[in-house]
Amino acid sequence: MANIELKDVRKVYNNVFEAVKGVSLSVADGEFVVLVGPSGCGKSTLLRMVAGLESITSGTVAIGDKIVNTLEPAQRDIAMVFQNYALYPHMSVRGNLQYGLKNRKMASAEIARRVAEAAKMLEIDALLDRKPGQLSGGQRQRVAMGRALVREPAAFLFDEPLSNLDAKLRVQMRAEIRRLQRRLRTTSLYVTHDQLEAMTLADKLVVLNGGVIEQAGTPMEIYERPASTFVATFIGSPAMNLLPIGDTGISGMTAPEGITSRFKASETLGIRPEHMRLLNSDGAMADEAVLDLTVAGVEVVGAESFVYGALPDGGPEVAVRIAGYSHLEPGTAIRAAARPEAFHQFDGASGKRL
Ligand code: ATP
Repeated sequence: MANIELKDVRKVYNNVFEAVKGVSLSVADGEFVVLVGPSGCGKSTLLRMVAGLESITSGTVAIGDKIVNTLEPAQRDIAMVFQNYALYPHMSVRGNLQYGLKNRKMASAEIARRVAEAAKMLEIDALLDRKPGQLSGGQRQRVAMGRALVREPAAFLFDEPLSNLDAKLRVQMRAEIRRLQRRLRTTSLYVTHDQLEAMTLADKLVVLNGGVIEQAGTPMEIYERPASTFVATFIGSPAMNLLPIGDTGISGMTAPEGITSRFKASETLGIRPEHMRLLNSDGAMADEAVLDLTVAGVEVVGAESFVYGALPDGGPEVAVRIAGYSHLEPGTAIRAAARPEAFHQFDGASGKRL
């Protein structure tokens, strides 16, 4: 087991493009850290620098307190799981699992023990004599995991390992990876662009944007106190509603003086769709803010629905999450209420949390 420490790590491609701009990050021994961010934010580059597959322009990467900047991947005691599985098609599952160990001239009894243990853990014992071409996507992904497991490395590095799987399998494998990691407690660094995957897997979430860390913390810390509008809209689905505050407040909003006095022109107010409710004839409570909206569309996703409403001045549509099936027709006038505890305020120019 080992910790991973990144200090002021930078990556400049071709002497011109700075893909990673001074990232410092700790993965504690046994911790599961997920790097999440949009396409091109530098997360794969960062992971590949830890793995030794990409050179480090400046800064240091340490694994188990040993600086590994100039070590070859094979000398870093890490195992990597990729999205494309990278299995050898002509070898059996057993052959794939053994391959790295045989290369290291490990005793065959030890190889057999590790393969049997990993196969049992991943429930692929019955598949050991098949070739990768005779496996389903989920089974192939398990073999790829198995190949990392048998090495019993100090750390696992995952590069979008589930992105080639269909939605149902992705959810299942996600839960399996989490269970496995909890059981083994192997230090893990995991890259994904999928915020739901990130939220459900991580002990610690690191949100990357444009080569810098926007925020790091537990999934709930980030969900409850996003550090910027970028994080606020990246984590959570549908995204947090962001309402610009003008000189006369927020268009279409009526709120008690105690609330409006806290708003400043040029700031942005954030409210999550799940923290709003639709008003019936009963009206709002005294301390609630109310938005007058016109239904623009409804998404029904089974147990819940998302109602999208337009503000009077045509600003951004506001999403409201409600339980059950919504029968609202486009064009219907609705009122949505939110309590001040659910408000997030951001600087209008920098987007930073206030
Ligand atoms: P994705 O989710 O799309 O894989 P990412 O966050 O993993 O994105 P990276 O692959 O790390 O992003 O790439 C970060 C930036 O560096 C991108 O703008 C990319 O175009 C650039 N980049 C990546 N590899 C190279 C390279 N070999 N040469 C030049 N630029 C590169």
